[in-house]
Amino acid sequence: RLYPLNYRTFAAMNTFQELGLSEELLQAIEDMGFETPSAVQAKTIPLLLEKETDVVSLAQTGTGKTAAFGFPMLQKIDAKSRITQGLILSPTRELCLQITQELKNYSKYIKGINIVAIYGGASITDQAKNVKKGAQILVATPGRMQDMIRRRMVDLSRVEYCVLDEADEMLNMGFFEDITAILSNTPDDKSTWLFSATMPKEVATIAKKFMYQPEEITVGTKNAGTKNVKHEYYQVSGRDRYPALKRLADAHPDIFSVVFCRTKRDTQRVAEKLIEDGYNAGALHGDLSQNQRDMVMKSFRNKQIQMLVATDVAARGIDVDNVTHVINYQLPDEIETYTHRSGRTGRAGNKGVSMIIVTSSESRKIKTIEKIIQSKIEAKKIPTGIEICETQLYHLAQKIHQTQINEEITPYLPKVEEVLNDLSKEELIQRLVSVEFARFHNYYKNAKDLNTSGGDRGEGARDKVKHNKKDSTRFFINIGARDDYNWMHLKDFLKSTLSLDQEDVFHVDVMDSFSFFNTPNSQRDKVLETFTDFQLNGRYINVEVSEKAPRGGGGGRGKRKKNSGGGKRSDRRKFNHSDGGFDQGKNKRRKANGGKPSGFGRRSRR
Ligand code: ADP
Ligand code: MG
Repeated sequence: RLYPLNYRTFAAMNTFQELGLSEELLQAIEDMGFETPSAVQAKTIPLLLEKETDVVSLAQTGTGKTAAFGFPMLQKIDAKSRITQGLILSPTRELCLQITQELKNYSKYIKGINIVAIYGGASITDQAKNVKKGAQILVATPGRMQDMIRRRMVDLSRVEYCVLDEADEMLNMGFFEDITAILSNTPDDKSTWLFSATMPKEVATIAKKFMYQPEEITVGTKNAGTKNVKHEYYQVSGRDRYPALKRLADAHPDIFSVVFCRTKRDTQRVAEKLIEDGYNAGALHGDLSQNQRDMVMKSFRNKQIQMLVATDVAARGIDVDNVTHVINYQLPDEIETYTHRSGRTGRAGNKGVSMIIVTSSESRKIKTIEKIIQSKIEAKKIPTGIEICETQLYHLAQKIHQTQINEEITPYLPKVEEVLNDLSKEELIQRLVSVEFARFHNYYKNAKDLNTSGGDRGEGARDKVKHNKKDSTRFFINIGARDDYNWMHLKDFLKSTLSLDQEDVFHVDVMDSFSFFNTPNSQRDKVLETFTDFQLNGRYINVEVSEKAPRGGGGGRGKRKKNSGGGKRSDRRKFNHSDGGFDQGKNKRRKANGGKPSGFGRRSRR
């Protein structure tokens, strides 16, 4: 198994032998096919083998950090003793299992070693039993580790080496307190080894708090993005995010991508829409059961899923090497997180592209990201309908060219030939391609330009166009001035609750006990869905389409007055909403329709 790592990682020319590793480890390394130590390994391993010291080691994802702490830990602990001597904390269950597996591979020639994974969502008593058998190394997520400490299922009082892996991510996920509590159960004189892709100030704080004069090891530029990744951004209006995503996918028929959304809810929604629109998509987020997540990941690895829509947290454990594109459907709240996202592609020596869909109001963030990744982000245009048709056409031609001939059709060919024999080769090609192409072309032939950058119309001019009443829906909502809202507060509330852009909530009119507002028609379903069974401070918020939709006019209003005092309405409308996690039913149906649907022609456009 050979992983050509980023060239940067080979800066040091040492061999594994030169690093001072034991025979058992060298043998395992040979079995695994590792030829040269990566830079972070070459720098970290000799240091940790020689010195009892704290270490802060910064290197990007995919640079081999697991072995950088795993080899020294395995070599230094006493495999003959049954005492827990090593503790590795990592942010997610996926990473926890990944690290455990790696350590088991590394230590296959070390007799008596026992490495136990400790993570939530599995039987705690089974895990405790495995610890009790004598585990020298525990690989744990902070939450479950805390649980086990409280229940006295582990003894950390003799831990000599403690690793904080993906420290930045653990802190992002709010594990600071758990980590503090866990470390307080370990001896003061242990060595702490901290590994991280980035060095935000929170990590610096933790290093200060828990470590004594740590040696700092940095590989490559701090926080730099992978050199194998090209960064691009596409500026569209907020309501065109989804159509833009579809076009980016359509313009890359062989795409194998991770699509990042900001919230679980958006993640689920975007994935569902993609599936509905005939793409091979799947959702990965924390509200899914472990079983569902495993299923999605399996389909992704098998490439049955071409577009994995994920939250940052859920995607953290993804270790798939040939992702062609990362798509930032929305930018992360923490700009630092962008590095983690783009690190999902361009792995193992492959090239990758990280695409960002932004609205004009977010476009200034591009500059900030450029600074962090120390690389230029290219402004690109969402392809036009015609360009996409062209791409798909060539892709189809290529597919026809590469198709394996199905021998079963031979007996029927004479009849088929008879039907087609008055056509020349050119005509035949034209018609063959047209059959498959028609649906695609119909969808895109009148498609508009989605790009908002580079145009000469200012924000104001665009706003006027957007605020066209005809293309918008007017809504009634049962909160108003009596609830301390003025139009600005209400607009802010709606924007953030609905994750809409500034310009997508307008004509906000606040009355005493209720209000009205408009959104583009394209957001209608989202608004209704979001406010289904929606509670604010224990009170049901009711939103309905205002039938007559005049601005400030009387229509629809009188009728509502009786409900306007708020409180729970017995006749609250029930909309069919599909927030219930990964929709396996839909996926199955789709599979039944066309086996493994792929790319061109199978997509049923609406
Ligand atoms: P990180 O923790 O820095 O993101 P990992 O430790 O998960 O990276 O390693 C990424 C991949 O590279 C793993 O599949 C690992 O087995 C492999 N790998 C690690 N070190 C080497 C090496 N020296 N040569 C080849 N492959 C390696
Ligand atoms: Mg790692």
